[in-house]
Amino acid sequence: MSVLKSAMVEAYTATTWPWRARFRLVHSRVGLAPLMVLFYHRVADHDVTPWTITTDDFRHHLDYLQSKFEIVSLAEGQRRIAMRFNPHPCVAITFDDGYGDNSEFAIKELNTRSLPATYFVTLDNVLTGEPFSHDAKLGINARPNTIDELRQMIASGNIEIGGHTRTHADVGSIHDSARLQDEVIDATHELERAIDQPIRYFAFPFGLPANLNDAAINLLRRNGILAFCSAYGGYNFPGDDPYHIQRIHGDPELARLRNWLTIDPRKVQGIPRYQPRYTRLPEPSGVQL
Ligand SMILES: [Zn+2]
Repeated sequence: MSVLKSAMVEAYTATTWPWRARFRLVHSRVGLAPLMVLFYHRVADHDVTPWTITTDDFRHHLDYLQSKFEIVSLAEGQRRIAMRFNPHPCVAITFDDGYGDNSEFAIKELNTRSLPATYFVTLDNVLTGEPFSHDAKLGINARPNTIDELRQMIASGNIEIGGHTRTHADVGSIHDSARLQDEVIDATHELERAIDQPIRYFAFPFGLPANLNDAAINLLRRNGILAFCSAYGGYNFPGDDPYHIQRIHGDPELARLRNWLTIDPRKVQGIPRYQPRYTRLPEPSGVQL
């Protein structure tokens, strides 16, 4: 982001600061403060892609988050949404895909700081070591994590592994029930067996409303997954649907991240271009849960 754009975001944040301060105070007082869930992909200083954040920027993010927010696990955040009570704005950290570079720095940094995170993994890549298709398209050979690395994360006690399909599929475009079952459920069960640990959470690849799928959500529910994550932005307020955790991009540009995390009025006042919450249809009647 250019210096000018960054300055404009900071100016907008500053001019709306009184509104933000009042919003946070009023919502915190009555236990309705938001849970904000960040998603990252890759933390590395080489072959920087649009889904990579440098180690310095990631360290600055954690410094900022730790100084301003309570950092909770996804499970604790979800519990607060379901219990309809959260007394302070809190943040949960997640990663998507399963990049080997994260084991070199990001995971160590989280462990040093004793910070929890949920780590969503695409099965085929961690089993085969093949680069992710979105990197291959750019000619970048960023290695996926190994199963051993995932086991080390679990052993650290701070990291929970989640499902992210078998092939990083756009689940929103899958209408064949056998393929849906394979990408969403069978792959998650195979990942569970590979890491020898139950999987409780699932993140839809790409994560925009068009990439979500009610049939897949119903499958997840029936198979004991506790919640799914999207990735189109949005806050989670106590009383919101606790089965759908909305996530915000861990934007390397700190000015934009601050704008989000201090509650951007445009994003809570129902302005359509700021994407309302995805509404899933209820399960068809007669379905055995
Ligand atoms: Zn992904």
